[in-house]
Amino acid sequence: MTSSLLDQLHLHADEFIGLRRDIHQHPELAFDEHRTSSLVAEKLAAWGYEVERGLGGTGVVARMVRGSSKRRLGIRADMDALPIDEATGLAYSSRHAGVMHACGHDGHTAMLLAAAHHLAHRGRFDGTLNLIFQPAEEGGGGALRMMEDGLFDRYPCDAVFAMHNMPGMPQGRLVLREGPAMASSDYATVTLTGIGGHGALPHRTADPIVAASSIVMALQTIVSRNIDPLQMAVVTVGAIHSGKANNVIPQTATLELSVRALDREVRSTLERRIKSVIQSQAESFDVQAKVDWRPGYAVLVNTPEETAFAREVAIELVGADRVTLQGQPLSGSEDFAFMLEKVPGCYVLIGNGDGGGDGHGACMVHNPGYDFNDANVAVGSAYWVLLAERFLRA
Ligand SMILES: [Zn+2]
Ligand SMILES: [Zn+2]
Repeated sequence: MTSSLLDQLHLHADEFIGLRRDIHQHPELAFDEHRTSSLVAEKLAAWGYEVERGLGGTGVVARMVRGSSKRRLGIRADMDALPIDEATGLAYSSRHAGVMHACGHDGHTAMLLAAAHHLAHRGRFDGTLNLIFQPAEEGGGGALRMMEDGLFDRYPCDAVFAMHNMPGMPQGRLVLREGPAMASSDYATVTLTGIGGHGALPHRTADPIVAASSIVMALQTIVSRNIDPLQMAVVTVGAIHSGKANNVIPQTATLELSVRALDREVRSTLERRIKSVIQSQAESFDVQAKVDWRPGYAVLVNTPEETAFAREVAIELVGADRVTLQGQPLSGSEDFAFMLEKVPGCYVLIGNGDGGGDGHGACMVHNPGYDFNDANVAVGSAYWVLLAERFLRA
């Protein structure tokens, strides 16, 4: 059953590999995916989907309803590229200098389109299928923007699923994980304002450099003293700026922080302690502190029931020996996390290749030498077809 499904998708894979390479040649940055979203919308409309454009700027949603079931499924792909100069030397390299599909979102889009094509023509399902093509996964929060535009109010889903390729894992291997799977990422800019003055008269100043230095050291105690040692947490001060001359105590200092966690409670503890340590430290140096806290992506948490279901689909498709049931969490972030805060679901990784066999796929994402492994077009699209047919069982 499933091998014939894979065979059927292999038959059409060439067409969608061609499409993937076309998207690869025409990469577009976050919220600028005009050509890509037009291409996606036109194909889906031609195959009979009800298509809406413009959610979250360049997002596309395609709906197909069959039968009488009230079940509603959401599947999401991302469409944006990265500001990187491609160095693969491939015949279908990016035609846009400084922009590159270095995270495989060209492949994710092509896999979901191939599944959409199959489901429209030969799919057996009963219920509502919602295909979500989002902009700006790379830091722009396109998922959140689509949700602010009413994604799940207008296209309610009982569960939502997504997939990302992973270099360094055997091609086509499917890796799942119940619970927290990817980290939250938050940012803060700290501005310290003291009283500047002559470097020889420090007692007439309130020195923001000394305060900043003490804050950097005090922040190191949060992970070591406030967080359960068995939990993951990162507090990084990645930039510190102050002063211009050796005999001038400056008026201000700024710090840039990056903060990560794999647990919602740890994430809020980090925010609370960071703000508190900064304020009390600053106060002890007679310096004013202003903390501009910018929440980034949430912790990505795969829900138990949907992860169990996705595991069954994966095993049915490629066999238990090519499925990892509980993979390691990743310290990277992903804005599909916002969708999973509203709707249960599961994010799966698909191995992009480990350098064995044909040698493809091991180069890490966000590297100028990276390329999506086209052998996954059939596997990834077959996963979506089987998942849709099992979730919306006819
Ligand atoms: Zn990426
Ligand atoms: Zn990505």
